[in-house]
Amino acid sequence: METAIEQQPRIRNFIEAVITKNRLAHAYLFIGPRGAGKREMATLFAQRLLCSQPDHPPCGRCLECRRIARHNHPDVHWLRPEGQSIKIDQVRQIQKAFAYRAQETAWRVLIIDQADTMTPQAANSLLKFVEEPQPGTVILMLAEDRELILPTIRSRCQELVFQPPSPGHLKALLIEQYGKSEAEASLVAHLTADVEEALNFCQIEWFAELKRVVLQLIEDCLRQDPRAVYQIQDAWLKVAKEKEHTDTGLDMMLFWYRDLLYIQLGMEDQIVYIGQEERLRKQGLSLSRVKIATAMEHILEAKRRLHAHVHPQLLLEQLVLRLQEG
Ligand SMILES: [Zn+2]
Repeated sequence: METAIEQQPRIRNFIEAVITKNRLAHAYLFIGPRGAGKREMATLFAQRLLCSQPDHPPCGRCLECRRIARHNHPDVHWLRPEGQSIKIDQVRQIQKAFAYRAQETAWRVLIIDQADTMTPQAANSLLKFVEEPQPGTVILMLAEDRELILPTIRSRCQELVFQPPSPGHLKALLIEQYGKSEAEASLVAHLTADVEEALNFCQIEWFAELKRVVLQLIEDCLRQDPRAVYQIQDAWLKVAKEKEHTDTGLDMMLFWYRDLLYIQLGMEDQIVYIGQEERLRKQGLSLSRVKIATAMEHILEAKRRLHAHVHPQLLLEQLVLRLQEG
């Protein structure tokens, strides 16, 4: 699996370039969703500055690199929310620590994790520190929502925008860090790039119910069951109360048909619906690839119409009829 950092080559190259050319700014603002690798990148940044083999990408093995990775390097400070927010006392404490010289190295790094949780008082207290940093100090602020960062602070930082995690990375994250099953992680990681939303999908009732409705609907469509169209009003719309839910349902459908294609092409390692291979294989028997591709086009068209504010019931019923025509 790609690491989070490998997914952000632009930012990694940028950091390498500013350090090599000695063009470091005083403060950087890392903006991006959870799972995008902001913390890993901050660690890498600090290692690049302090690694005992300067002028190279950090080795990751020397004492400096290892201490930074373990968060116990005396010149790399992490500031994190206590409870819900980063408070003024925490900021004051860190400023006090930074009033002295670097303990061991030429550089000192302050990493403010979830900087968007700073209270206004904490942010104001930090402002002076960002405005007049001591030489050899670099501040890295990590945030999901740039709008929650005080504009006066933002204007003094160089902003680096992180891409959301790829489905593969998000899936691994959900399994390894949040203990989700492979089947569950695989599906939700393809439906959203946001860790928060993915975790929400895993818990929320309508999601599991909608998945059941979607898979049943596809089954009925493939069997040319004339009652399939009634499932829209009787089942789908009872579960998918919001437009976004219907959008997610259409994505579920799309990935199911794509899996049918992958099964036919012998690319089982690519499928999203892990654990449903048997059902997919059975359904795929009676379908040509052209039919599958046409069905996917119909679903994409339904998604476009949904975004163009066509009534969900209308577009879903038409979709069902089209899928039955094949
Ligand atoms: Zn090193």
